Amino acid sequence: MLESKNKFIDESYDIVVIGAGHAGCEAALSSARLGFKTLIVTTSLESIADMPCNPNIGGTGKGHIVREIDALGGQMAINIDKTFIQSRMLNTSKGPAVHSLRVQADKRKYHEEMKKTLENQENLDILEAEVDKINEENGKVKSIETIQGSIFPCKACIVCTGTYLNGLILMGELTYTSGPHGLSAATYLSDSLKDLGLSLKRFKTGTPARVDKKSLNLSLTTIQKGDSEIVPFSFLNEDLDFSDKKQEDCYLTYTTKKTKEIIMENLHRSPMYAGLVKGVGPRYCPSIEDKMVRFPDKDIHQVFLEPESLSTDEIYVQGVSSTLPFEIQKAFYKTITGLEDVKIMRPAYGIEYDLIESRQLKRSLESMKVENLFFAGQINGSSGYEEAAGQGLIAGINAALKLKEEEPLILDRSDAYIGVLIDDLVTKGTGEPYRMMTSRCEYRLTMRQDNADFRLTKKGYELGLVTKERYEKMLRKREIIDGEKQRLKEIMITPTEENNEIIKSLSSSPLKTGYSLYELIKRPELDYFKLEGLDPYRDKLLKIHALEVQTEIKYEGYIKKQMADIDKFKKLENRSLKEINDYFEIKGLKKEAALKLNDIKPDSLGQASRISGVSPADINVLLIWLKTKGK
Ligand SMILES: Cc1cc2nc3c(=O)[nH]c(=O)nc-3n(C[C@H](O)[C@H](O)[C@H](O)COP(=O)(O)OP(=O)(O)OC[C@H]3O[C@@H](n4cnc5c(N)ncnc54)[C@H](O)[C@@H]3O)c2cc1C
Repeated sequence: MLESKNKFIDESYDIVVIGAGHAGCEAALSSARLGFKTLIVTTSLESIADMPCNPNIGGTGKGHIVREIDALGGQMAINIDKTFIQSRMLNTSKGPAVHSLRVQADKRKYHEEMKKTLENQENLDILEAEVDKINEENGKVKSIETIQGSIFPCKACIVCTGTYLNGLILMGELTYTSGPHGLSAATYLSDSLKDLGLSLKRFKTGTPARVDKKSLNLSLTTIQKGDSEIVPFSFLNEDLDFSDKKQEDCYLTYTTKKTKEIIMENLHRSPMYAGLVKGVGPRYCPSIEDKMVRFPDKDIHQVFLEPESLSTDEIYVQGVSSTLPFEIQKAFYKTITGLEDVKIMRPAYGIEYDLIESRQLKRSLESMKVENLFFAGQINGSSGYEEAAGQGLIAGINAALKLKEEEPLILDRSDAYIGVLIDDLVTKGTGEPYRMMTSRCEYRLTMRQDNADFRLTKKGYELGLVTKERYEKMLRKREIIDGEKQRLKEIMITPTEENNEIIKSLSSSPLKTGYSLYELIKRPELDYFKLEGLDPYRDKLLKIHALEVQTEIKYEGYIKKQMADIDKFKKLENRSLKEINDYFEIKGLKKEAALKLNDIKPDSLGQASRISGVSPADINVLLIWLKTKGK
């Protein structure tokens, strides 16, 4: 590696983003779009918005984040609407709070689309190089260095290095240094982060094999088709017609008893079970070995066969990630129904990598150790393209706001899934790769994927990331929905024989007195669409808008109650603790609590209440202190 003294002072930038994965791309685009001269550096241009694992975007909790990125002026939703090859709305049999859009991505096209977006972005330069050092001066970022010899002076730096830092591939007895699917690992930067005083740890994740579609017997599987009515991810595309979009199929199959037999016989050759792995793996994306061990009563497990791209026959075998030796993989993959003659094109593997302890970060994602040094994505302990992109957007926005000497954008737990994600990481930390789920969000009824634009577009517009057109589009939609709700309140349905005939045909109890259409929509067996017969003069709304009207009416009571809970939450959330330097000076606090509070330096009483080891009694002490401070 080149010594710093043999390097040269290269161009200076306002903001340097290290990494062009899902976090890095959103971070670089937002800081460049907010007017800052930005450089994005990546060890390989092939890794731009790469999907080293599942070829899909969205799903439970993750779809919400994609919508929030879109509403704030980010890029992921816009690019996936151009490159998806199958679309499905999950959980439609459940309430709207958990409805989640999930699409199959054409990985190659998604990469190309994001690379083009970066290339066409003003204020943004792209460089293929490996960053080996971050320099600080008086506790503030000063420059970054690459192994290729450049020293880039910069005012802020955003680290988004994903699964590459000291990447170690795990496949049975074989381990070797590498990034995902053959891309090179980054082997120097971890030491520089330690020199800056940051503590690091190791996590592990894994991916299944990619197999040749031509070698599969799909007649033994169950086709999984996309939805006939496609809902876009981007709010900008709500009025676009996707009805003639050709969709690819996925296929459902199962492992067999033989699969289990082979895996259990060879468990000792899995580095996880041979104790060779230090990194902690994701509980919610278990390897096939983990599933066999964790669910001993289950003989078979679901497997989804998913296309990776229109430009290849590679199929992603979802649900069968493994770190077993290739020899064993070849044996047990052949036992999965439909894969009897399977040709593996890319073996399954695990990857262990360095990440930082996320409790060293503020809620703006700025490090508490080095000023103007931000972190986003997998390096913070999360797992998933969507979680990474959400953090990248916030880190990019906050690096820009910091250079403008403006207050950071903090989304709290009642504003957005991104707010829950970041709050969990920086306040509670995580002992394993953190995957977003709807169950993590206490206010999920008011933070649905369908209303992300109403929750966040105004913030994006005030920041300067959302265009006037998009903002006005959201306001017009709000008007349409409020107008329609008002209209439904004013239309009274009287208990005439004719009306009751229609009501009875909808298996609902006949009216004894007049009801507004608004009230009738609240009946569980009725809805906005079923009541069209009693509402002949309604305007034709976009289905997405009509669904919004229906949800807001049907869940009105629950939403009101949740808004009241949110008011209480915000009261604590807005009690700032920023002025407290040393919690040991506050009498009555337990020692453990003072230690934790000094370590995490919570912004507010609300955040303090979520730190493990800080009890309600400690919160009371802080409340009294706030009330009596200085007296
Ligand atoms: C094998 C594998 C399996 C996975 N399985 C799952 C899963 O099951 N479920 C799930 O949700 N997610 C999974 N993921 C995680 C998912 O890929 C990541 O969450 C997501 O890609 C993280 O995005 P990111 O932007 O943080 O980092 P990445 O997408 O990893 O991008 C990191 C970027 O940083 C660059 N970089 C790193 N170090 C340097 C340096 N020193 N100098 C310059 N550039 C640098 C790289 O070139 C790359 O551009 C898996 C990932 C892998 C590799």
